[in-house]
Amino acid sequence: MKREKAVMDNCIFCKIIEHKIPAQIVYEDEKAMAFRDLNPQAPLHVLVIPKKHIPTTLDIAKEDNELVGHLFQIANKIAEENGIAGRGFRLVMNTNPESGQSVYHIHLHVLGGRLMHWPPG
Ligand code: AMP
Repeated sequence: MKREKAVMDNCIFCKIIEHKIPAQIVYEDEKAMAFRDLNPQAPLHVLVIPKKHIPTTLDIAKEDNELVGHLFQIANKIAEENGIAGRGFRLVMNTNPESGQSVYHIHLHVLGGRLMHWPPG
């Protein structure tokens, strides 16, 4: 995959994709990757990301629809493999500052292994 160097250099998740900084990778294929969150908010907290650099959900183009669906398939697989699919888990994608988005490369949080509360904080 052709990667824009300027983007890669500024994006921490692009660096993880390029194996330039370490992460606890739990899944990888040619289009996506999943790794453990550095600051877990639940017993299971994994981030599923596309290898394509997409800054926010607002930047998801029609051509990315299959890729975004793929991220959800990976999240489901991770929940199943960790034995929490039936109990329940939460999938979150934050968009822009008021949501708390801190890394501008879309990522699906997979949170589980404890009771989740609603409304979220
Ligand atoms: P968000 O606030 O929705 O943008 O989520 C970004 C998430 O990335 C946070 O939960 C961080 O703990 C996590 N994070 C930031 N840097 C790393 C890293 N190098 N490895 C793993 N997770 C990270």
